[in-house]
Amino acid sequence: MAEEKKRKPAMGLQPEGEVDWSQYRGILVVVEQRDGIAKKVSWQLLGEARRMADKLQAPLMALVIGHQVRDLVPEAFAYGADQVFLSDAPVLKDYRTRSYSRVCLQVIREYKPEIVLIGATYTGRDLAGAIATHVPTGLTADCTQLDVDEDRLLNATRPAFSEKMVATILCKQFKPQMATARPGVFAALARDDTRSGQVIEIVPQIEESEIGAQVLEFIRERQGVNLEDAEVIVAGGRGVGGPEGFRLLQELADALGGVVGATRPVVESGWIGHEHQIGQTGSTVRSKLYIAAGISGAVQHMVGMQYSEYIVAINKDPEAPIFAGAHYGIVGDLFEVIPALIAAAKARKTAHVS
Ligand SMILES: Cc1cc2nc3c(=O)[nH]c(=O)nc-3n(C[C@H](O)[C@H](O)[C@H](O)COP(=O)(O)OP(=O)(O)OC[C@H]3O[C@@H](n4cnc5c(N)ncnc54)[C@H](O)[C@@H]3O)c2cc1C
Repeated sequence: MAEEKKRKPAMGLQPEGEVDWSQYRGILVVVEQRDGIAKKVSWQLLGEARRMADKLQAPLMALVIGHQVRDLVPEAFAYGADQVFLSDAPVLKDYRTRSYSRVCLQVIREYKPEIVLIGATYTGRDLAGAIATHVPTGLTADCTQLDVDEDRLLNATRPAFSEKMVATILCKQFKPQMATARPGVFAALARDDTRSGQVIEIVPQIEESEIGAQVLEFIRERQGVNLEDAEVIVAGGRGVGGPEGFRLLQELADALGGVVGATRPVVESGWIGHEHQIGQTGSTVRSKLYIAAGISGAVQHMVGMQYSEYIVAINKDPEAPIFAGAHYGIVGDLFEVIPALIAAAKARKTAHVS
């Protein structure tokens, strides 16, 4: 181990001379926000990082970046952070790779976390890649499991070969060890507003003139579908038969206060928009109730919904693999089962009102 500590980084990019990696301590989670509202994945990562920080007996740090985002500091404490770095400035109003990565690098270089975790969102993936090119380390992207071992190594596990295998990747030589993790995979801690800690202000070392990109406008691609935050999802697959079948699913989702999800083939057939897709190449969800109608249960779909609290499968084939991953199974024709569920949900609502 002593020899390991003194080894120089292999890449020419980074610190000249010998580096004492033992100076790196603690876990840093970068909090992603839009318009001052944190992405759920940030709190989910803090929850998982809390467990690992306790195992390492090291501090858990959160980094909040943006403009007028001070309100996120107490939230970061409430979700598990011991220490919060706050970089709040007009130049940081919108996410831009150069400005945000510059702030992250400032914090990494000065405070030396041994692990850095970022949500595997569109923004997080961009940010993590940009940071990793400037520090002497690797980046394990899109993780679905994280742990630390007795050598303080981050065991970053991610699916490989179209989800047919999982690979656990270690970054043995350099620090920080970096990973992005998928939204919806980890659970956030219960919010505890009595928690607090040290706040450290970070003044961004960047001027507007140094940033090549300008954000002119945000156009929301996902109109009205928020799968990642939904508590109830009624998802349909090829068994739904066509776009009309999805109207039936929408009716059930409305009756239960949920949203509609879909498998990839139905999205590719144009039965429903891509923003509804769940699975390896779609969203990862963690709903309280997941109703899978006419879905066979391919692994590429299951990885996106397996962490839901209650999975109810409706399939006319009793051998369908979806039943193995479901808490409740209904063997039957969805065109008979779904109308019965809609009627039951509506009757329940009426009973509550009267
Ligand atoms: C690299 C890669 C990435 C992928 N990414 C994704 C992804 O992100 N998300 C995803 O979903 N898939 C993804 N896939 C595709 C995945 O492998 C499966 O092909 C897909 O999930 C199957 O979709 P399905 O269940 O709708 O269709 P099918 O497998 O055809 O299943 C249809 C099911 O409906 C049942 N059924 C038919 N009629 C009825 C009825 N009237 N009532 C009740 N049940 C009925 C059938 O018994 C059957 O089980 C990916 C594949 C690859 C190779």
